Amino acid sequence: MKHEIEELMIEQRAYFHSGKTRNMDLRILRLKALYYGILKYEKEIMSALKQDLNKSEFESFSTEIGVTLKEISFTLKNIKKWAKVKRVKNSLTHVGSTSTLLPEPYGVTLIIAPWNYPFYLAIAPLIGAIAAGNTAVVKPSELTPNVATVVRNLLEELYPEEFVAVVEGGVETSQRLLQQKFDYIFFTGSTSVGKVVMEAASKQLIPVTLELGGKSPTIVHHDANLALAAKRIVWGKYMNAGQTCIAPDYVYVHHEVKEKFLVHVKREIEVLYGKKPLENTEYTRIVSKRHFDRLLSFLEDGTTVAGGKSKEETLTIEPTVIDNVDWNMPIMQEEIFGPLLPVLEYHNIDAVIEEVVNRPKPLALYVFSENKDIQQEVVTRIPFGGGCINDTIYHIVQPNLPFGGVGESGIGRYHGEYSFQTFSHYKGVVKQTTKFDLPVRYSTTKYALSIL
Ligand code: NAD
Repeated sequence: MKHEIEELMIEQRAYFHSGKTRNMDLRILRLKALYYGILKYEKEIMSALKQDLNKSEFESFSTEIGVTLKEISFTLKNIKKWAKVKRVKNSLTHVGSTSTLLPEPYGVTLIIAPWNYPFYLAIAPLIGAIAAGNTAVVKPSELTPNVATVVRNLLEELYPEEFVAVVEGGVETSQRLLQQKFDYIFFTGSTSVGKVVMEAASKQLIPVTLELGGKSPTIVHHDANLALAAKRIVWGKYMNAGQTCIAPDYVYVHHEVKEKFLVHVKREIEVLYGKKPLENTEYTRIVSKRHFDRLLSFLEDGTTVAGGKSKEETLTIEPTVIDNVDWNMPIMQEEIFGPLLPVLEYHNIDAVIEEVVNRPKPLALYVFSENKDIQQEVVTRIPFGGGCINDTIYHIVQPNLPFGGVGESGIGRYHGEYSFQTFSHYKGVVKQTTKFDLPVRYSTTKYALSIL
């Protein structure tokens, strides 16, 4: 395997240097091929998602296939504009010259994907890599092997290996890849593995994007539209059985409205998943027995007020709400990444902001309130990757917004033009005139230097 990876690196580097990946017509053609290839493989992708995670067709299309297609069509619509060489303004010191910004592909890139949206998170960064003119090695997650195989079949059918290759495997394969001299590494996964990736990259000074996780807070203020807040929180939390990096991890509810809010939450769970969610054949399962057991151990915390039942044979856990939770409990010590929603109550919004600010910077944050001052206080005082006011998750599908974390939830951003920028190095070039020469720059007097 090691030998194969090294061979692949040599082939991709040679292909990159041939200049073919930079050809704009070819980039467009290859993105179009990806679009139609995904349509052709739609059934296989859905069936692999069903086998690996029991994802329903609706969720598979809306959160994996549809979003990927949308990202490709948005990129195709704008790629020429993004790739344009941009002229920048001149200052007095540069009279006679022209200055330009040239987006240039990094070269041979590595994309490491997680298992929770195993199709979308392997392909979405690839769209940016191709659009910007790079080659790519894609390493899907070993925990969703059926999706990994479909990703390999799809990309092998569409592209030569020296342009885009899929390397399947687990931690060991990932670490072998990380020893290679890539020009860029794009990693999506946990914060702990993000540190391993960054350490490996730092040894060869390889730039990285780290799309990581964390505990994303949701705040429900007393003046919120409670019915709508509950509906949108239940939708965002239990989608994919809570295995979403930007799912509301926990909810902080104002004490005056907590009971009412919980009534709405229970009703919405029933509307979306029925009275017996474990019998719902469309309900996503937990990815592995290890994660299933980890989640069940959290049920010892607080008071379960909705759900709580589980089925080991299918690795499913009911959409669950846990009240009377505090920060000392294990459920509040790590990212939950499952269908368990802890509820904390508050009296004073300042105390909530202070509490969250003193914890690792979250990937997402959601605040529900009708008061503009409260909305602004929360989104400006708390650092977080991205988020919504009066909604959950929706910011990730706004193509003009960057997506990414900050601090422990990640480094860098992507989607749309931000993906193109992520996979490009911007070369700044001054083209100087030879028609005249400003003598002042050659002077060593104090006055001349101060002009420069
Ligand atoms: P993970 O970090 O365990 O694995 C991600 C990838 O890294 C996999 O391909 C895996 O094979 C590889 N890997 C695992 N251990 C490794 C090691 N020691 N050295 C090198 N490579 C290694 O993450 P996961 O469990 O697949 O995904 C869940 C995590 O990902 C959650 O924390 C979630 O929040 C985060 N996530 C973030 C985003 C985002 O866009 N920010 C999206 C989805 C998931």
